[in-house]
Order: sequence, then structure tokens, then C-alpha cells
Amino acid sequence: MSESKLMVYRCKSCGAALQIGANPTSSVVVCNACGTQNRIENIVKNDEIRKKQDINSGVPLTADPAHLHQILVQALASSTNMPLDVFDEVEVLSESHVCVPGYCFEVTGNMGYTVDVGNERTREHTSVSSDRITVTEKKEIEYTTTNGQAFDSKPLFVSGSKEMSNVVTALYHNHDTGALVDVEDLSFPEDVYTCNPDMPQTTAFNQYVRPTMEKLLQQKALQSLQNSIYRNFTPGGCMVSRDETHRVFLGIYQITYRYKGKEYYMYVTGDGRAFYYEDLPNDTSRVTKAKALQDELNAVKDISWLSYVAGIGLFILLLVLTHNFLVSLIIGAVVLFGLKFFLGRKPAADRKAIQARIDAFNREPEEARQRFMSSGRRLKGIYSSI
Ligand SMILES: [Zn+2]
Repeated sequence: MSESKLMVYRCKSCGAALQIGANPTSSVVVCNACGTQNRIENIVKNDEIRKKQDINSGVPLTADPAHLHQILVQALASSTNMPLDVFDEVEVLSESHVCVPGYCFEVTGNMGYTVDVGNERTREHTSVSSDRITVTEKKEIEYTTTNGQAFDSKPLFVSGSKEMSNVVTALYHNHDTGALVDVEDLSFPEDVYTCNPDMPQTTAFNQYVRPTMEKLLQQKALQSLQNSIYRNFTPGGCMVSRDETHRVFLGIYQITYRYKGKEYYMYVTGDGRAFYYEDLPNDTSRVTKAKALQDELNAVKDISWLSYVAGIGLFILLLVLTHNFLVSLIIGAVVLFGLKFFLGRKPAADRKAIQARIDAFNREPEEARQRFMSSGRRLKGIYSSI
């Protein structure tokens, strides 16, 4: 009964709502209003998987093109090796709509550990010699082996499909469960590509949830020790349990673009809040230039240490010659600090100048991005007229 309102699909020709039954089996639906044949195989597949996997909530695709364009521009400028012509040259080829069946595991983890915690103790040492008794205080650290427990509980999202598991982990692993939409209100566009649910729940849990929780619990244990003196931290076994598992559909935008003949992909969560990429256009001459600047900075010779040699040497020499400690000290010190100031001035100025060039170089991509965005221009391709 409620299934009929799961999704409303519209005729691609006239926009009338299509009558899709609760169990669509045919990939073609004829519009009642104008007779156009609408292909809906993607919807059929999405609906089949939704039922078979008992999906109960998910993240729909709700980001608008202007926002996706802005995220792509932001991603392109996130590397200091961005080619400076990237905004003129990139052509956005497609925006694909992907739906990945997945799991939201609500997990609880426990980890025991042993550690030697140190306590500062003051001890009095009494030594007796022929003419007197000396009492000296000595500070010592005394270690005691103790057991500790680290605990945490949180929801973790994992892909239920092998082909998108890396992308899902990068985009959704720690996603906010508050962003989940009930299955009743969850709909995907008719060009959606739904991934096959070929990752069993246990595999997903062992491969992605367990390692995350183990790392997290170790961090928590070390955090609780950060204000104490300790040594020999030994983590014990982790108990990670599933309190609840939700089956979810995770919407992902896959944006394909081309730069100088090579194709790149960027992935964005359905709500447009997080993005992920494996590769970005990269200007190797900028890599070389960054390295050259760093080399230049490292090559600045600082010979101000010579002032210590000169100052102290002079002091000793004068002392030997004149036997006047105060005069020798004053002259030595004047020479030391004068020379140090004189010799150190140029290297410091050189370093400052090179650092300024490095900072300006690193700012170039972000400045190019700001100029591009404030000019109101768009990347070439599918977003050019939004
Ligand atoms: Zn129609």
C-alpha cells in the first residue's frame, strides 16, 4: 500500500507522473497522458535491490549542480601543484548518479591494555662521613603496572558493494546518521546506477569496522594517558560488537572531467557535504619549482656561529695577555654580539625573502580559484550554463 508512493517518476516527454506498480518488472512504462515509452530499467533494478536487501533508510541525491560545480573547483585548487590553467582547460564531461547499498553498523568497542604508570617520588639519601651527615633529596620515578580499559561506541557506514568500497569508506565511513532519510521518502533519479550488493555483512564488518574501532580505541587509551608519565603501553584484544545494523542506500555523485586528454573522477556525497578523489590534475613543473625553492631556502648559509669562536677566542687571548678578567670579558662579549648581529643579518633577510616567495607560490592555486569564482565564470562542459 505504502509502496506505491515510494518513488514518483515522471514522463520524460510530458512530465506526467508514471504509473509504476509496486513490483515493476518491465523496463518500459508507457505514459498514460501522452503515450511516450519511458525506459525505467534503472528504477526496476534499484527497486529490486531495495526490497531484497530490506533497505530501511539512506542518503538521497539532493545537491544541486551549482553546488557540485563549486565543490569541483574547490577540489581542483586543493593541491599546491594545481596547473594554473586548470580552470580554463578542464571540461566537465558527466555527472553520474550512483546508489550504493551499504550498512550502517552501530558498534560498541572495548579494549583492555596494560601500561606502566610512573609516579614521581622524592627520596632522601643520607650519607655519613667522618665529620658530618649529609642529607640529599633525590627525585625518582617509580613505575607501577596497571590495567586500563578504553571504550567507545559509534555508528560506522560501510559499503555493501565491492566496486565502490573505497569511495564509500572515504565519503561515508563517519557520516552523520542524522542525515539519513527514511526509505519512504528516499528516491533516486531514473538514470541512477545501483551497485550490486556483493559484500556480505560479516565481510564488511570484519574488513572495515573492526580495524577502525581498534585504531580508535588505541587512540582513546593513549589520550587518557597523555598527562601521565608512562612506558610499555601494551594493547590487549579488542571486543567489537554490533548493537544494530541498518541497511542503507548511499547516494554518490560521480563527476567525470577531462584535463589535457586525461580523464579524472571526483565523488561527492548525496547531500553535497563531502568529496573524494584519487587523482587531480598535477603540474609537474610546479613540483620541481616547489622543490627548487625549498633547496634555495636550505642553502642559505648561516655563518653567525663564527662570532662565538671569535668572541670566546678573543676573551681567552686577552685574559692570558692582560690578566684583566672584566676588560677581557667586555671586549669578548662586544665582539661576539656585534659579529653575531652583523653576520646573521643577511642570512635572516635572505631566508625571509625566500619564505615569502614560497608562501606566494603556495597561495597561487587558491588565488586563482578566488579570481575564477568571483568572475562568475564556469568550467567548460555540462555545468557551463548553470
Ligand atoms: Zn507523457
